[in-house]
Amino acid sequence: GAVIGILGGGQLGRMLSMAAARLGFVTHILEPGANPPAGQVAHRVTTAPYEDAEALTAFAQSVDVITYEFENIPTEALDVLESHRPIRPGREALRVSQDRLTEKTFLQGLGLNTAPFADVTDLDSLQAAIERIGTPAILKTRRFGYDGKGQARLKSPEDARTALADMQGAPAILEGFVNFSHEVSIIAARGLDGQVACFDPGENVHRDGILHTTTVPARLSPALRTDAVLLAANILNALDYVGVMGVELFVTPQGLIVNEIAPRVHNSGHWTQNGCAVDQFEQHIRAVAGWPLGDGQRHADVMMENLIGDDMDRVPELAQQRDVALHLYGKAEVKPGRKMGHFNRIKR
Ligand code: ATP
Ligand code: MG
Ligand code: MG
Repeated sequence: GAVIGILGGGQLGRMLSMAAARLGFVTHILEPGANPPAGQVAHRVTTAPYEDAEALTAFAQSVDVITYEFENIPTEALDVLESHRPIRPGREALRVSQDRLTEKTFLQGLGLNTAPFADVTDLDSLQAAIERIGTPAILKTRRFGYDGKGQARLKSPEDARTALADMQGAPAILEGFVNFSHEVSIIAARGLDGQVACFDPGENVHRDGILHTTTVPARLSPALRTDAVLLAANILNALDYVGVMGVELFVTPQGLIVNEIAPRVHNSGHWTQNGCAVDQFEQHIRAVAGWPLGDGQRHADVMMENLIGDDMDRVPELAQQRDVALHLYGKAEVKPGRKMGHFNRIKR
């Protein structure tokens, strides 16, 4: 069978490897850290930093196609990898999504609604941004933010200095605060031939900046459901995208506002593992391997809940519940805020 290379050995790489194995592929993981969760299930693991061009070359030459579980892969590493094998989803998706300013500019260029935003480099540009956008607002680092890290909320213009200090000198953007009623996301897939398939949108609840639950079906009118599918397909087409993408959306009385995109399988798509014949991980593997997309129709109501840090103490109890499907990541060390697993509660 073909060999699929995966950059990143976390839980997403692990679940991608499991899906790949089910289709008869073997996976080769490249991961700088020791003992990655994906290493327990992948065929092969290379432990090397993304700066090691020799290791990158050997990795690329050992696989047929390269995909990834996170978007912050250094450009230089991508250059090396791409000179040997195709990277799917492609470079443009990574370029756009690695930087919140580039991302929001791209989305607006497609005619999609985003929060109002402005580039912030220093106190002067922050004050100008506040004057234009107003408060409340959120200051976010342009790069490397996740789980709400690298963000500071401004209740009033007086919060400018402390919010800027929180950025620790990193380039940032100011976003106007969106008064949403709730958050949803749509997990969309695009095949090598351009076919697009979307999973049913999920409704997301965050706790301490980290995704807590995703529930399907989401509260969405038929019209907004259609909007979600169309805007996702619009984004994928514009990027000539191959693979699965997560699109995070705010629901407002004025319609859907795009918060951010993730060029990979997404935590809010984990419900598909027990709600669909073909889940987001298999869908991604199918796409990057050049297969036709599979059947992602939802066949149950599902609530996905993340098991973070000490939530692992709930596992014995959850294991007794018949409507619960557990997915644990095999991480040895429990740390506060660390995603240790999740479960899907099947409601029908
Ligand atoms: P992720 O872990 O999903 O990658 P992240 O760190 O990239 O998260 P965002 O998704 O930008 O951060 O923001 C985290 C959460 O903060 C959002 O899901 C939403 O609840 C809230 N939030 C972000 N931006 C805004 C905004 N402009 N207006 C209102 N709420 C916001
Ligand atoms: Mg994000
Ligand atoms: Mg987010």
